[in-house]
Amino acid sequence: MGDDKLQKHYLSFESYLRKSRKEFEARLKDELKPNANYEDFNVTKTLGTGSFGRVVMCKYKDGDKLYAMKVMEKVNIMRTKQLAHTISEIRFLDAIRFPFIVHMEYFFKNNVYVFMVMAFIGGGEMFYHLRNNKKFDENLCKFYAAQVILAFEFIHFMGIVYRDLKPENIMIDLEGYLKVTDLGFCKKIDSQRTYTLCGTPEYLAPEIILSQGYNFSVDWWSLGILIYEMAAGFPPFFAKDHMKLYEKIVSGKFACPPHFSKSLKDLMSNILQIDRTKRFGVLKAGSKDVKGHEWFKGTDFDQILNRKVKPTYIPAVDNQGDTKFFEQYGETFLRQSSLNEYEEEFRDMTLR
Ligand code: ATP
Ligand code: MG
Repeated sequence: MGDDKLQKHYLSFESYLRKSRKEFEARLKDELKPNANYEDFNVTKTLGTGSFGRVVMCKYKDGDKLYAMKVMEKVNIMRTKQLAHTISEIRFLDAIRFPFIVHMEYFFKNNVYVFMVMAFIGGGEMFYHLRNNKKFDENLCKFYAAQVILAFEFIHFMGIVYRDLKPENIMIDLEGYLKVTDLGFCKKIDSQRTYTLCGTPEYLAPEIILSQGYNFSVDWWSLGILIYEMAAGFPPFFAKDHMKLYEKIVSGKFACPPHFSKSLKDLMSNILQIDRTKRFGVLKAGSKDVKGHEWFKGTDFDQILNRKVKPTYIPAVDNQGDTKFFEQYGETFLRQSSLNEYEEEFRDMTLR
């Protein structure tokens, strides 16, 4: 992208962000009202299971549109002390509206569970495609990285730190564009610092491991890890044992494969920088240091934002409901209860 074009993009994106922030804050203040029932959906199969629940494929009433429904058991949320995390996940899924971030269309609860319903993303996780293709060529890496950068700029502008970037949490849609999912670790910090240890070992920033207060810097670090992993096929810091892995991360020493271009190596050394006063993304120029880096020369962020760039990789499916990019899971019945469990705790869903 030429300098003029980039300047123009910065200006228009910034005014878009300012407008979005007002709408976001208004939605966050609003009461979140359930807008459907479990009985409105025809559930077909399980798409994924995570530490906190199960995601199933479904249709709404007699319509044709496919959805992914995340089902979380209230008693399990309470047992694992995830009430605050779950409420913020639901509130952010509702309030964030951005092309590369998944969005919740329906929300409801019953006696046992809370439910979040999002559009079904048919290409599955980036993780699947990365392992299948071993690595992505640098052009594809740039295309994907650009979308994650735009998503981070958006989320950060809303005052939120994301904290869980990894190929498992990025879905690829059937047009070849990305959607970041799993807002379970998102936290509204605005200009504050936070201390919680959370995320995935290989993607943890040194400041999290060292229990230093941190802010948006950790997301830029994880972007560096993601770009490296997409281009190499493996992450820059790797060890079987977590303690050894953490030692490597805080040492900041890593090597790039010889096939990395010179500008990619340079970008890596600037993002995977343990000294936060030197790390790209968190310096005075913010994300501009990353977007304006030589590696992104030729990447048109505006065109990508408007989905006008034709992806070089498109997940090929037989039909809209094809689940070939998803693993197979055993099905289970939902538990029922005559008692409304934890009714009080889940009543008003206000962010705290
Ligand atoms: P974990 O804690 O293990 O990351 P989780 O319980 O927080 O998992 P998610 O990461 O939100 O749950 O979702 C689990 C999986 O379900 C995803 O990795 C993905 O495979 C699938 N999934 C989630 N959302 C969608 C969607 N909108 N369309 C299709 N599949 C989805
Ligand atoms: Mg996940």
